[in-house]
Amino acid sequence: MLVKLFKLYYKNLKPDDLNVKGFEKREFAYMPFNKQTMIRHLGFSNPKQLKQLLEEEVPLHVYYSSAYYENPSAPEMDEKTWLAADLVFDIDAEHIQTPCKEQHDHWKCLDCGEGGKGMAPDKCSRCGSKKIESESWVCDCCLEAARSEVLKLIEDFLTSDLGFSIKEMEIVFSGHRGFHVHVESSTAMTLDVDARRELADYVRGLGISTNFHGLMKVSGILVGPSLSDIGWRGRLARGFYDFLSKAEEADLLALRMSKSWVKYFMSNKEKILSGLLQNPPYWAWLRISPSGLEKIASKAIENVACRIDERVTIDIKRLMRMPGSLHGKTGLIAVRIPYTKLDSFDPFKEAAFFKKDTITLKVRHMPEIKLGGLLIGPYKDEVVKLPAEIATYLLAKGVADVYKGM
Ligand SMILES: [Zn+2]
Ligand SMILES: [Zn+2]
Repeated sequence: MLVKLFKLYYKNLKPDDLNVKGFEKREFAYMPFNKQTMIRHLGFSNPKQLKQLLEEEVPLHVYYSSAYYENPSAPEMDEKTWLAADLVFDIDAEHIQTPCKEQHDHWKCLDCGEGGKGMAPDKCSRCGSKKIESESWVCDCCLEAARSEVLKLIEDFLTSDLGFSIKEMEIVFSGHRGFHVHVESSTAMTLDVDARRELADYVRGLGISTNFHGLMKVSGILVGPSLSDIGWRGRLARGFYDFLSKAEEADLLALRMSKSWVKYFMSNKEKILSGLLQNPPYWAWLRISPSGLEKIASKAIENVACRIDERVTIDIKRLMRMPGSLHGKTGLIAVRIPYTKLDSFDPFKEAAFFKKDTITLKVRHMPEIKLGGLLIGPYKDEVVKLPAEIATYLLAKGVADVYKGM
């Protein structure tokens, strides 16, 4: 069934939907249905040729290189001659801690049987084993969290701090759990691995030293940046303000702040916050020890930094999900999103190709989750009639089969 749906999609696809910048300099690759192999080192002179291949082969996954090569179809990497690469940022809902993960995700240690709800840990909390089996879902709330990270990345970092223009960016929904932002500006494209690592660290807020950003004691009095300062100075101040304005006693105690300071802060919260809003800001009311300041700074930085996957950003030869292709794990389209539409983007509306009908499925299991604005599940070995885009998603996820009747 899924192959049939994919074939139908590729048959009706317009070659223009596959047109990416520097098309003939990119390497393409795909993974067929039912085979764990990657067919790569493909090069095409135009999107029409690629569309033809997709229609004939009907792949499960399709990729293109973030890099531009002199000879993209050369079978060996060193024969390709690297010319440049998009600067890519990857934001994945899987890596963002959202409260809904407690409801729809779970994990189990294959060594000792320990398990739990929510995001899978790196290693088992009981025996330390890394052999962990997990099931994860992405719901509307997870995607919303990823979307707000993308907006933060573009608005706070790429445009205001780094000076790239929206016109030089391609925003792509990955078809699964997140978004890719490709910066296709000539200044970014020739950056080497070290420069990209610097940018990734900057965006992730690694190595931010508070006193380099003006937060320090001068003659025994705490001074600090203003919320409206540019770059990390202002971001640090806003991070402090956000964290402190929402902080409850329990949050501060969990940070191991001293009990006496927590008591002082809770009874002077409004005054302290109003001091930070002043121009110039007044930090001295915080009356905090150097170690307390660092603890809050790390929380403040965590909240305003951007959760990108740095491995994608520093890789100059990565294969990325091809815009216009279908994601084999969801049946959703890896679709390009104009910046102005990002706010209202709903994958089950704008990245679903097959949405007029309903399909009857036998769903083996799924938790209750919100998809495309609809509350679906929980199901356990149930026959249900679902909108086609949701049914396709469950088929691709491998938790359901088409119901053929009694
Ligand atoms: Zn274990
Ligand atoms: Zn969720």
